[in-house]
Amino acid sequence: MSNPTRPPLKPLQQAWEELLAYAVPLAAPELVPTHEADGRVLAESIRAELQVPPQDNSAMDGYAVRSADIAQAGIALPVSQRIAAGDNGQPLAAGTVARIFTGAPIPPGADAVVMQEDTAAQPDGAVAFNAVPTAGQNVRRAGEDITRGAEILAAGTRLTPAELGQAASVGRAQLLVARRPRVALLSTGDELIMPGEVAPQDMRPGSIYNSNRFFLRSLLVRLGCEVHDMGNVPDSREATVAALREAGASFDLVLTSGGVSVGEEDHIKPAVQLLGQLHLWQLAIKPGKPFAYGTVGQAHFIGLPGNPVSSFVTFLLLVRPFVLRLQGLSQLEPPRVAMRADFDWARPDKRQEFLRVRRNANDGLDLYPNQSSGVLTSVVWGDGLIDNPGGGTIRRGDTVRFIPFAELLV
Ligand code: AMP
Ligand code: MG
Repeated sequence: MSNPTRPPLKPLQQAWEELLAYAVPLAAPELVPTHEADGRVLAESIRAELQVPPQDNSAMDGYAVRSADIAQAGIALPVSQRIAAGDNGQPLAAGTVARIFTGAPIPPGADAVVMQEDTAAQPDGAVAFNAVPTAGQNVRRAGEDITRGAEILAAGTRLTPAELGQAASVGRAQLLVARRPRVALLSTGDELIMPGEVAPQDMRPGSIYNSNRFFLRSLLVRLGCEVHDMGNVPDSREATVAALREAGASFDLVLTSGGVSVGEEDHIKPAVQLLGQLHLWQLAIKPGKPFAYGTVGQAHFIGLPGNPVSSFVTFLLLVRPFVLRLQGLSQLEPPRVAMRADFDWARPDKRQEFLRVRRNANDGLDLYPNQSSGVLTSVVWGDGLIDNPGGGTIRRGDTVRFIPFAELLV
């Protein structure tokens, strides 16, 4: 029986759509050097002001020829010029060839390049050709990569090394990119201590090390955020309100972990309701039910569960697309790959589940044996998640939907 005082848990798909509707892209893009733009999101469309390559050029080290001059194999011709990459050749005199190197411009009059392996130098300095060349062979055509005026990169593209190279190939030393979201990161919990502060043998009973703070920070940095780690907030209403008020005043997003469930020591939800608005709370997913979205002051607020696996998984599923959308990215849905389960999952949860699995040598998926939301080893061991519908039993050999971490950790 459902409890009439508690709204039903929100399905992930619905939460995703609502959450992303709140993620309005940040204003005020900035110009950055192309060589520092890796991972940033383009805020302009890049058009080529030139064709690439700019001129016809040689794909090989060898000889630029007029193909009509070599009507049969064995013909030898004198070398009238030498053109290296960066040189500009002269028109090729009929009945002669040009020594040419990869990337050097094809001289006017030449229509093919014969690779040097297919030639033989003669004692008199001429060159003999072992085969008859065809017009156009080993010539890289001007504009074959990029035509002048073409849009090579659209606004909203996340820049990776290949895109940086391409932007440089059309002469762009700077690129207009979305501003980095400024994120305040807070963890909560009186049990949490920091590595380095207390040695394992000196820990008080009940203490644990703060692990979420470390992976959340690094996940945010990878996604282009500017992270301000505001430390750990004690489990009290006053401390929680004070920390959230401060964070809400000067950041784009306030991200917390822990304290967002229904226990007496969970102070996040009432603090958000006091300082702003709570728009989403509690999702029909496992792990990750205690997820919250709202506003505090001027800032977006996202509250992640405290359990490390829940925190990690909800970050990948919801915070990742949120901070990318703030930067103007539109392609946000991770691919679900059809794969074979090499295990049984007989007692599924009613909620949509995200199981930590690993690809095996037979192109199937193995399940980490302990799927508890506190067991971070399952994430380290695994290389992705199965997106399993609520109530979905899995039989060995079934096809399941797999989300590789590799798609989400970039
Ligand atoms: P909470 O959501 O605050 O009730 O926390 C749920 C569980 O996650 C508890 O066992 C906490 O000790 C643990 N936990 C909360 N925050 C962290 C953290 N930052 N690092 C490691 N474990 C945490
Ligand atoms: Mg707690």
